[in-house]
Amino acid sequence: MKHLMNLKTVKKLLFTGLLAYSSTSLASEKPNFIVILTDDQGYADVGFNGSDDIITPNIDRIANEGTRFTNGYVTYAVCGPSRAGLLTGRYQGRFGFGRNPIIDPSDATSGLPLEEQMISEVLKPVGYTSSIIGKWHMGTHEKFRPNKRGFDHFYGFLSGGHKYFPEDLTIDSIENAKKDWSWYNTKIMENDKRVEIDEYLTDELSNEAVKFIEREQDKPFFLYLAYNAPHTPLQASQEYLDRNTHIKDKKRRTYAAMVTAVDDGVGRILAKLKQLGLDNNTMVFFLSDNGGAKNNASDNGELRNFKGSNFEGGIHVPFAVRWPGKVPAGMDYQKPVSSLDILATFADITKAPIAKERPLDGVNLMPFITGENKGTPHDVLFWRAFDQGTLATRRGDSKVINSDRDGDHLYDLADDLSEQNNLLKAKPKLYQQQLEEVKAWEKGLIDPIFKPLQGRHSENEHVKKPHK
Ligand code: CA
Repeated sequence: MKHLMNLKTVKKLLFTGLLAYSSTSLASEKPNFIVILTDDQGYADVGFNGSDDIITPNIDRIANEGTRFTNGYVTYAVCGPSRAGLLTGRYQGRFGFGRNPIIDPSDATSGLPLEEQMISEVLKPVGYTSSIIGKWHMGTHEKFRPNKRGFDHFYGFLSGGHKYFPEDLTIDSIENAKKDWSWYNTKIMENDKRVEIDEYLTDELSNEAVKFIEREQDKPFFLYLAYNAPHTPLQASQEYLDRNTHIKDKKRRTYAAMVTAVDDGVGRILAKLKQLGLDNNTMVFFLSDNGGAKNNASDNGELRNFKGSNFEGGIHVPFAVRWPGKVPAGMDYQKPVSSLDILATFADITKAPIAKERPLDGVNLMPFITGENKGTPHDVLFWRAFDQGTLATRRGDSKVINSDRDGDHLYDLADDLSEQNNLLKAKPKLYQQQLEEVKAWEKGLIDPIFKPLQGRHSENEHVKKPHK
């Protein structure tokens, strides 16, 4: 009898395993989820995308032991809106997060609307404990802070960027950061308390990530590890500079050293998962929040332009996922995917309910990357940068940009990933079709709900007249 029970259990497990990713399956799983997000890292600044000067053996493990997305996109070309899209699985323009939020804790509008559900809030009802470690940027007012948004644990800072050396962190709260950019000097927060740190910030964030995994190892967790590296200011500790002496350009060497620190952190996290026996039960995404920036010596390879642009260099990012035994190892997935898909993937795996009135724009990537679904995750992707007057869309390999700031463009990315040969005049009908499609999508968006950052706050974006 006992033997029979065991056989039943085995069959049940097999059944669950085989059908876990079928869209028709009712089975749910509770793996751990980790999203490692870097800030302003260039497409070509990881080994897995061919970097030969920046050495990233640990980040590369996520791609090599998992699946690399060669056409991985974010939803916006700068930090704040991109993160709002990732964290909600919805185009952030739907709820007015159409620009970077103002860093002002007295401003009760400048943040992610409370009606929206972040990954942490979606996973809470199905039993997950969540932590955000690093950069928040989803609003500084009390009501917008991580512990109000389904995160059980927060270790990091609220603003859009930060200094890296402990001696620079002298301001005791964001309320007391009165001058522009002085929020880069605020002390690190653990939940609602200020803490003193004594290590290079990237190392501190990695330490906390490892501690969180240790603490939560016995129950399902979601870790959102949002490194601010390699965002400016370019600051690296001597240890990491010394490992990049092969790079002669000082700025590039410092940037590389910042990436080395992240890579070491990723290595420690993967080692901890292995040590705790969580390797096969943890899905790890790695991506950058937007393309490499012009001001941090990053390299977007053959992609045109930088952060802030809707050419590929602003929105097409290094992107990979690892889940041993579940996600195919050493594979390239070449169809376009989006940061929007991360929440949808987690929700589908865990069968976490999604509110009908806030439908997701992302899809579960698992059936696509396992090959169970031979179709396309997204026939079309869309972007809007309200303050630039820019709309952009990719359907198949055909990319359209319609911009008050950057002009009008049509490219065939299959032949012209670098967006050099504008086909606008050669194929006016195709351009018009795609423009109409993105304009129809735009009707589902609302204007930004908070005021723009002024002048130099604008993170490489020029504030111009709204798109008509
Ligand atoms: Ca960024």
